[in-house]
Amino acid sequence: MEKLSDELKQKLAAVEENYKIIEENISKAAEKSGRTRGDITFLAATKTVEPTVINHAISLGLSYIGENRVQELLSKYDSYDLTHADLQFIGHLQSNKVRQIIDKVSLIQSVDSVKLANEVARQAKLHGKTMDILIEVNVGREENKSGVVPEKLDELLGEIAEIDGIFVKGLMAIPPICDKKSEICKYFELMHKIFIDISGKKSDNVSMDILSMGMSDDYEEAILCGANMVRVGSSLFGKRNYF
Ligand SMILES: *Cc1c(COP(=O)(O)O)cnc(C)c1O
Repeated sequence: MEKLSDELKQKLAAVEENYKIIEENISKAAEKSGRTRGDITFLAATKTVEPTVINHAISLGLSYIGENRVQELLSKYDSYDLTHADLQFIGHLQSNKVRQIIDKVSLIQSVDSVKLANEVARQAKLHGKTMDILIEVNVGREENKSGVVPEKLDELLGEIAEIDGIFVKGLMAIPPICDKKSEICKYFELMHKIFIDISGKKSDNVSMDILSMGMSDDYEEAILCGANMVRVGSSLFGKRNYF
């Protein structure tokens, strides 16, 4: 066993403490919303976090990790301990990079165009698999933000549902930054409404199982509004140091 520096030891201890707190908060929010801890997926957003720290979180029971950047995912890939954890892609994805991650992730949360869906499907088929995806919704209709705007979602889903090689498992959203919790809740509630509306419509390659929304500052609110997956980064790992 390599000798850990004091700094790293402290970091791991902090992650352990944070992990317990987040677990507890998720449980409480789940119960408040009439569900249980088991109904909510806790995914850790691991951008900028070194694999030693990520693996420590996995050893505590963390079962889902998500990366945002293809290069970073590839550089860390051999160091993750994925025996008991699932690796997903949560960031903006360019079609020409799909090939590099298709055999490494279990879910791509950020599909927002037919072009990207087609490339994911094409690469999935080359690997003899069906890729699970979420559709990213730009719920705040923000310019320069990824995701399909709500009014175009039905049309996009219709086209994507026809594509062989992918399976739509749900929706993902990153709402605008809001000063007040009540403001962000409006976006979470809108997402939940859209999620429920689509669930009511039957479609072959679509099953609305996952509603992925809520991050460090607002994951409890997101759960109260109906999220069943939260993506938490800095509350678990501490403030990010970009490299
Ligand atoms: C970084 C990131 C998160 C987590 O953000 P925090 O505020 O650090 O919890 C969640 N989702 C996506 C897509 C991210 O890039």
